[in-house]
Amino acid sequence: MHNSISQEIINELIYIAKQMEEMKLVNVLEGNLSIHDKGLMYITPAATRKSTLEPEMIAVFDADDNQIYGNKRASSEKVMHQVAYTIRGDIKAVIHCHPPYLTAHAICHVPLDYTCHPEILVQFRDIPVAPYGQPGTREIIDNAKPLLKNRNVVLLANHGVLAVGSSLEKTCQRIETAEKFAQIASICRSLGTMQNIPQAEIDRIMAQEIET
Ligand SMILES: [Zn+2]
Repeated sequence: MHNSISQEIINELIYIAKQMEEMKLVNVLEGNLSIHDKGLMYITPAATRKSTLEPEMIAVFDADDNQIYGNKRASSEKVMHQVAYTIRGDIKAVIHCHPPYLTAHAICHVPLDYTCHPEILVQFRDIPVAPYGQPGTREIIDNAKPLLKNRNVVLLANHGVLAVGSSLEKTCQRIETAEKFAQIASICRSLGTMQNIPQAEIDRIMAQEIET
């Protein structure tokens, strides 16, 4: 094995991928996770049930896009991950998946606005919808780029969600929290209109720096 490849990172990727499958946030054909460390990108393979992942199935790419480890083909959304790391030099993890409530919002082009909820507003500000891009192409991430520059979670029109963060655990938590709130927003719409928290409170939160 290439001596700069970290077994610890491979294990972390598998652990979180399996957790996400248990939470039904990814499945066999959907969802890909990556970690970027010391110039290498570790990413889940294409068309593989996350619960069956073994260390040798994780694809590792060097800075020149050569696959230096892994006995499977990388996720077809590899480019989305690679470009996300160039857009945001401060991140170490990327997750793309299709959880039901977030994907429903992406399909209907309905952004999530959190001015109704202080704790979610602190984390996300909002989750906008990036214009449609063809799956498996660079178009997706190019369209999401302007939004991803100052946010950690973006919906991808007619497709799913993209999240980034300073660790894979934190990025996974973002997807989990965003999916839960997308479910709550769906319930709220059937009850009435979501009411904002006071403007002074929104202003106070918006003045805070957003965590990576
Ligand atoms: Zn997808």
